[in-house]
Amino acid sequence: MEKSRVLVVGATGYLGKRLVKASLANGHPTFVLLRPEIGADIEKIQLLLSFKEQGAKLVEASFSDHQSLVDAVKQVDVVICAISCVHTRSHHILLQLNLVKAIKEAGNIKRFLPSEFGTDPSRMRHAIEPGRVTFDDKMVIRKAIEEARVPFTYVTANCFAGYFVGGLCQPLKIIPSRDHVLLLGHANVKAIYADEDDIANYTIKAADDPRMVNKTLHIRPPENILSQTDLVQAWEELIGKQLAKTTISEEDFLTKLRSKTYY
Ligand code: NDP
Repeated sequence: MEKSRVLVVGATGYLGKRLVKASLANGHPTFVLLRPEIGADIEKIQLLLSFKEQGAKLVEASFSDHQSLVDAVKQVDVVICAISCVHTRSHHILLQLNLVKAIKEAGNIKRFLPSEFGTDPSRMRHAIEPGRVTFDDKMVIRKAIEEARVPFTYVTANCFAGYFVGGLCQPLKIIPSRDHVLLLGHANVKAIYADEDDIANYTIKAADDPRMVNKTLHIRPPENILSQTDLVQAWEELIGKQLAKTTISEEDFLTKLRSKTYY
């Protein structure tokens, strides 16, 4: 079967660059959105040029220029967006409304995979402020996609390993502690972790899989379903040392979260 032409939007991002790599590795003609707004951001430009060297085609288009987006999506079969959200560096999930409009007008897209890649937002109606904006906005995009009758796949990737496993699930930590760990409540609630390169790979495979039209892909590797205690124990075995432990109660943790702003 001929591989779909894939356009990656948000390609210079944390997940985006992995999507480009996976798309090329899976043999897809790969297109990468180049936004004129990046100006003289040398890191982004060099990354985009490295994609080009690996065989990707750079396509210039801006979220504030509807026609440029229509022209960009007309060149491909599949659009995968990995634009940033509030828990990372900046929040632009709703900009995808422009992309949905362009995809609808172009009329040729066989599959759109919006920037999801987290916890399934349809199951997060109980999420607390201020973080819930990510889930709420992702639901706004889902609604727009479905109303526009654009064929989609939603990728639910649960917890990125780099963010959560590295820091042993401690808020704002990415490197594992060697002396002390803060345990969240009883530390026995299981969560699902996924390697970012695996997420990109499954995403690319789902994009061309007819079984995934208008479906949600749940990335849930059984061996990666672990509690914070499981993670800490694995780390302690690895470094041959027990960590000192303190606990934050559920109530104190939620109070701390409530006092945060993400902007
Ligand atoms: P990044 O913060 O790395 O940003 C991704 C890209 O968004 C940027 O490289 C840029 O792409 C684009 N972007 C940024 N600002 C703008 C703007 N003003 N206008 C248009 N585009 C802009 O995002 P992540 O890779 O961290 O996140 C991608 C997705 O993954 C999100 O949906 C997020 O919720 C999810 N995620 C999930 C996690 C989990 O644990 N499950 C953890 C982290 C993220 P370019 O300049 O190339 O156009």
